[in-house]
This record gives sequence, structure tokens and C-alpha cells, in this order.
Amino acid sequence: MENSCQTIRHQINLSGRVQGVGFRPFVYRLATELELAGKVENDAQGAVIEIEGASKQTSLFLKRLQSELPPLAKIAHLEITGLPPKNDKTFVIACSKSEGARSAEISPDIAICPDCLRELFDPADRRYRYPFINCTNCGPRYSIVQAVPYDRCNTTMTKFKMCPDCQAEYDDPTNRRFHAQPDACPVCGPRLWLTDAQGRDLPGDPIRVCAELLRDGKIVAIKGVGGFHLACCADNDAAVERLRERKGREAKPFALMLGSLENARKLICLDSASETQLLDCACPIVLAPRCTDAPISRFVAPGNALLGVMLPYAPLHHLLFAEGLGALVMTSGNPSEEPLCKDNAEALERLGHLADAFLMHDRDMERGVDDSVVLAGGPVVRRGRGYAPGPVRLKTIAALEPVLAIGGEMKSAICILNDNVAVLSEHLGELSNPSGYRNFAQTIERFQKLLSVTPRVIAHDLHPDYASTRFARSLPDATLIPIQHHHAHAASCMAENGLSRAVAVVCDGTGYGTDAQIWGGEILVCERDAFERAGHLCYYALPGGDAAAHETWRPALSLTLATFETDWQQEAGTLFNEVPAQTLKFTAQRIQSGSFVQTSSTGRLFDAAAFLLGLCERNRFEAEAAMLLESVAQSYSGASPNALPPASGLLDWKPLVRNLVVGMRQGVPVPQLAYAFHSELAILLTSGALAAAQRNDITQVVLTGGCFANRLLTALMMKNLEHAGLEVFTHHEVPPGDGGLALGQA
Ligand SMILES: [Zn+2]
Ligand SMILES: [Zn+2]
Ligand SMILES: [Zn+2]
Repeated sequence: MENSCQTIRHQINLSGRVQGVGFRPFVYRLATELELAGKVENDAQGAVIEIEGASKQTSLFLKRLQSELPPLAKIAHLEITGLPPKNDKTFVIACSKSEGARSAEISPDIAICPDCLRELFDPADRRYRYPFINCTNCGPRYSIVQAVPYDRCNTTMTKFKMCPDCQAEYDDPTNRRFHAQPDACPVCGPRLWLTDAQGRDLPGDPIRVCAELLRDGKIVAIKGVGGFHLACCADNDAAVERLRERKGREAKPFALMLGSLENARKLICLDSASETQLLDCACPIVLAPRCTDAPISRFVAPGNALLGVMLPYAPLHHLLFAEGLGALVMTSGNPSEEPLCKDNAEALERLGHLADAFLMHDRDMERGVDDSVVLAGGPVVRRGRGYAPGPVRLKTIAALEPVLAIGGEMKSAICILNDNVAVLSEHLGELSNPSGYRNFAQTIERFQKLLSVTPRVIAHDLHPDYASTRFARSLPDATLIPIQHHHAHAASCMAENGLSRAVAVVCDGTGYGTDAQIWGGEILVCERDAFERAGHLCYYALPGGDAAAHETWRPALSLTLATFETDWQQEAGTLFNEVPAQTLKFTAQRIQSGSFVQTSSTGRLFDAAAFLLGLCERNRFEAEAAMLLESVAQSYSGASPNALPPASGLLDWKPLVRNLVVGMRQGVPVPQLAYAFHSELAILLTSGALAAAQRNDITQVVLTGGCFANRLLTALMMKNLEHAGLEVFTHHEVPPGDGGLALGQA
């Protein structure tokens, strides 16, 4: 038996999120408390600990090392090797090694922690009201890091030389700010100022004057953690409407920030799951059902049943709300569809016509990181600040060589897979405009530098005309691997859930199919690098190309025609009266003559249903019609059919369309029809999944694609599939929509 007093020495190699999160001070305190000697240091894989002392104490150390981790730290892998004792007398924190392969995780940007928040409002603290307070448990990370290892000289904070007080904290292993790379104070750190739209300084306390301007109905561009926001008071109709006009944003909902959870409860209905999301240290925008009579302007989210709400995450935000402000609109600081603004001069130039004033600071950002968006109780739908660049560890497979996956066209994001770790970038937005494309190309370059890999294998979408596909083709001597869009969606959900084989139900707007048609309602049998199309929604003509995504009458006409054939006009009655007669007739003729591309899109099916129910004639922003349809359906409280569908591979939507059109003519209440549509579609898709599962002897099903941001559809599908004895997997930290595509491609 081992003598519990015998002196032993272990080396512990750790990987995971152990840098920049207070890990070494924690190890130091633990070792000192247990009277152990040795050292801890960062290396490029994570951290290495050497520990020496009585074997009883060392095993206690190993146990507590894992059970008492600091809040942000995560150990992905831990390896222990025995060493001969060196008779060390003390425990030390050694300096970083910068050589070696760089796989240490970079922490996302984290909302201010309770300790810093307390100090922020403590008049006796030397950082009282200092907008850049942070510690090892909170503050900016990914937005300021330029290279790994994560040390101050590799961040944008390197230009600020620490004062003696800050330096002392930084050097003291027992201090909460030990090696807190963005550590700063009013004496030595970044500062805040307020200017008018021309960049001229405005006198007075920037926070107080800014709060006054907001209260006066002004629009202020506020530089936060990941970029600029455009802010105004959310209960001020004139201000919110002006912001809409200036930003050129007709209807897409604005996100809100509220000072506290209590205030958030007055605007949105929260359950414990969504409150947890709201309070998470990632501090995302939570999309939740709005309360009736929510005290905000009708221009914030016109006609939308959901509101996007977040809590303050930067010290700066807390200081603003301490001035007594109510709900603020906090929309990303960019002209519509363009990348986020992050630099001061750039902001004055690009946002000068949008904002009345600028609240700026000189803590630079290495990259713009948009706010993340999560569905209340559901998955992340936009992955940005607080989540990126958190990695996904693949349980089932490791890459033979590094792969760069470059995503799709809309909601773009990139992903680098190295060994079994996939690092997914922040949301990069649309690539169809020049500045979006530039940002995309720049991010690829920076991401490769940050991770110290330049993959030669590039995975891209099968679509020949995507900007990302053209980018891939422009790379010299790269090996290109085109990946079918829906296969990538499926692989992304499988990777997140550690599956190697599954039936995938993939529902989204559009993706290029292997038969050159537009897919979007797919039942796939997937392995990681192969798939079989086991079923799909029946094809229908998609008239008008890009216009079909905005004008909901186009797919509606196509589906009505296919359902009722020559009787379509009698059956449809007045449904298409708003469409100019000539256009309608001409389009109908062209559909009948087969001059349009064929599609199995679920997204356009939703659009058509919303049109037929008179809910939405035009998508003013992506998925507006589908969101309206879902919220109307959610308002239906009647019983739902609970029939288990027969297994089938041919998914015919004609009965669904028939029920909508006939139901409208018979005056069935719209919420009931909207609910029935969801329910029947879920049954249809379940029957397809069931057939594929039975034929291939598979019991695991993944639900993925942008349409699974629809909570009702997701819930109905899960119920049906589980009832049929299948195990269902959905997305959590990776978006179901095209933002998650890159992970699947890799
Ligand atoms: Zn803190
Ligand atoms: Zn200082
Ligand atoms: Zn998609």
C-alpha cells in the first residue's frame, strides 16, 4: 500500500479553456493551501502543472483542481505523468512559453462579474465608475486578442503601460487580477469621451451627458465590447422611428437592453430557462414572447410577437443604466446588412449620418463581434460575442490535416478544424455586399493567424455562385471540397451532438442540390462524409428567382396551382386579389409551362402559407412571414391532432395547401389554420424521417436548418419522433441556420 506521507511529484498537462480565466492563480491558491510545491505555467496547448508533496495532499489537489474550477475555466483534457521529486519548497507561477503548436483555447468576451460590478459602484474603490474595469473572471478577450498565447503583449491593450498599482495586482498570484491581460485603471488605462456627429468633444461627464442625450430622444453611437451600437430610448416613438429611417431598416426588429432582470420581465415572458440564458455570462440577446402592453414604442418590433432583450454586459452599460434610463434600443452600429463598425474614425465616417453623438473609447478592438442571439429556451441563432470562438470538440472524428470551412452566403461564419477541435468564428453577416465580403476575407486571414494554421483543404458550399465558393476557387493550390448545403447542416448538428450516423430532417430556405435544383425540405441519411437523400418535400416551381424569397405570393401561387390544377382560380377566390392581374396571369402561365427552377424549400412553403392566410405579402426581412405564421399559430389554444403518421418517403404538401385555401374560404379562424399547418407539416416530415430510419435501421434523428428556429415546429417534431421511439437531437450552441453551416462543412 502506498504511504500517504510519501513525497511524490506529478506533471499535469491540461488543455481546454485555461488561459485568461484565472486558472493559474486558482492553481496557485489551491497548491499553497494544501502545502504543495511545484509550478504552473501556460503553454500553447493550455497549461502544465507540476505538483510535489505528500501523496494524500496531491490526490486531494487533483480532485479539487477539477471540482473547484474558476467559473470560466473548462478542462477539456487532462494527462498525469509521474516525475521524480525535486524537493521544491515553494509553489510558483512560471511565465508563458510561446513556442509549440497553438491550440490553447481563446476565451470569448465575458460580461462583467459580480465582484467587478460591486467595485464599479463603490465610491471607495480606485476603479469607482471606471468603464473598463475587469478581472480574470470577466471582461474582453476574443475582441482584443491578436495572437496566442493570450498575454497582454498579444492584445490591443499592449499600448497601455500599467501603473504601479495595476502592475502589483497583475503580478500578485493571490489577486483576482493576477495576469488579467486587459487590467487597467483610471490612471493608466483606456478612457471614455463623448463627441457630436462631427467628432467634436462634448463637455461634461460623458456618461451623464450621454444619458441626457438619450433621454432627449437623441440617437447615440456607443462603443461597447465587440463594436458600436446605435442606441435610443425604446419608449420614444420619434427616436425609434428616426433610427429606422436613418438605418434604412423598414421592419426588422431592434434588440433592446434593459437595466435589470426585473425590468426585462415587464417586456417579455420569461421562464426559468430563458432567465438563465439572459443572466448567462455570455449575455446574449434572448428572443422571447413579448408581454401584452410592453411599454415600448410600436416601431421597435412592428407586428412581431417576440422581442429580443439583453442585459447590460459592459461596465459602461451599467453606468448608463445607473443614470436611470429605461429600455434602450441597442442595434448593431452599421448601415443595414453591412459589417459592424469597430474603430473610432471608421464609426464617425460610416455612422456620422446615423447618430447624433458618439460615446467612444480608446480600447481598440481587433475584430468586431456582434451580439449573440438565442431563442428563449432554445438554440443560439446568431453566434457572436460571448460564444465565439468557443470550440466544438468532435467526439467521433479527427481531421487528418487542418480544414478551413467557409460557410454559405447569408449569415456567414467560418470554421477551422484542426485535429478534433473545430473552432467556429463569429457571425460575419451577408457576403453579397463588398464590405461584407472584405470582412469575410479578412476574418479568414486573422483566424488562420490566431490559430497558427493555414489549411490547404477548403470546404465550401456546392453552390457555384456563392461569393464564398468564388473565394475558394481564387485560392492558389488549395484542395477544394464542395459540400452539399443540407448535408453540411446535418453534419453540423451531428458534430454538436457527437453522432456519427443519423437521419437528418433539414428544413430551410434554399440550398443548391446535387441535381441542380433548389433543395430545402430534406430527409437525409447521413454519415460524416457521405449522405443519401432518402426523401424530400415534393418539388414545386419557384417563380421569379430572388424575388420569390421576398414576394410571398409567388410560392403561394405555385403551390395553389399545383394543388388545384385547372380549378385553382375558383378555389383561391380572392386570395390573390392584391397581385396585379397581368403579373399573376403571366406568372401562372410560366409556372404551367415549366419555365422555373424546381424547389423542395420548406422556407418558401412557410412563406406561401403566411400569404394564403393573409398574414404577410412581403418578407421585409428574412423569415418575417414564417415568424408571423408561427406567432399566430402559437396563439391557438385548441386541441392538436395526435396521429402517428405512416412512414413515407414522398412528402406531399398538397393536403396542407388544400386545407389552408379551403379553410380560408370557409372562414376557419386563422390561428387554427396556422396551427394545423404546423402540425400537418410536422406529421409529414416525421413520416419521412420514420421511413428513412426504419429502412436504414437508425434510431437517431437530428433536426437542423433555419426553419428549426421555429419553436412550434421543433416541439411538434420532437413529440412525434419521440413518440415513434426515435431519439431526437437539436442544436444548442451552434445555430440551426446557415451560421452553423461551416462546422458541418469541416
Ligand atoms: Zn471581474
Ligand atoms: Zn492602473
Ligand atoms: Zn441553409
